[in-house]
Amino acid sequence: MILPIYLYGQPVLRKETRELDKDYPKLDELIANMFETMYNAEGIGLAAPQVGLDLRLFVVDLEPLAEDDPKYAGFKKVFINPQIIESKGDLVKMNEGCLSLPGLSESVERESIIRIQYLDENFVEHDEVYDDFFARCIQHEYDHIEGVLFIDHISPIRKQLIKSKLNSMIKGKVGCHYRTKAVQK
Ligand code: ZN
Repeated sequence: MILPIYLYGQPVLRKETRELDKDYPKLDELIANMFETMYNAEGIGLAAPQVGLDLRLFVVDLEPLAEDDPKYAGFKKVFINPQIIESKGDLVKMNEGCLSLPGLSESVERESIIRIQYLDENFVEHDEVYDDFFARCIQHEYDHIEGVLFIDHISPIRKQLIKSKLNSMIKGKVGCHYRTKAVQK
């Protein structure tokens, strides 16, 4: 089932998130719905707060990038209760966008290497190191479960320049092809 994607301004995007346990009702269904919602919106990552849930959960699928670089093939993952325990490496700037902020793209500086501990969809523990775009994508989604958006990383001047776009999102006045849920409608 395709879920509406919560837009900028929705309080859940800033809310503190809760850990999940194995007994979380219909978790398989939620994860399947998150992937379906993400594919429908042509995204490569989606976090639970973006579908209105204050949970420490996000999904990533980098397969769409495999056409340009085969190293992304089959990289489809579920991250439950993740903890980034180390960030290091060079600070790299790259343009990012977000399904909760349609139409916006801004240069964001992030560290190039992370170490993350998490549970997968079967509640198996993992402790992994990622670099480059893998690290960037995971950091973007991890930010979501920490109540952080990519625009929090941009300069005050850039933020001022996109202010009217942000206000439009709060009012739901955005042109995008997927279902969204704005604060005002
Ligand atoms: Zn995002």
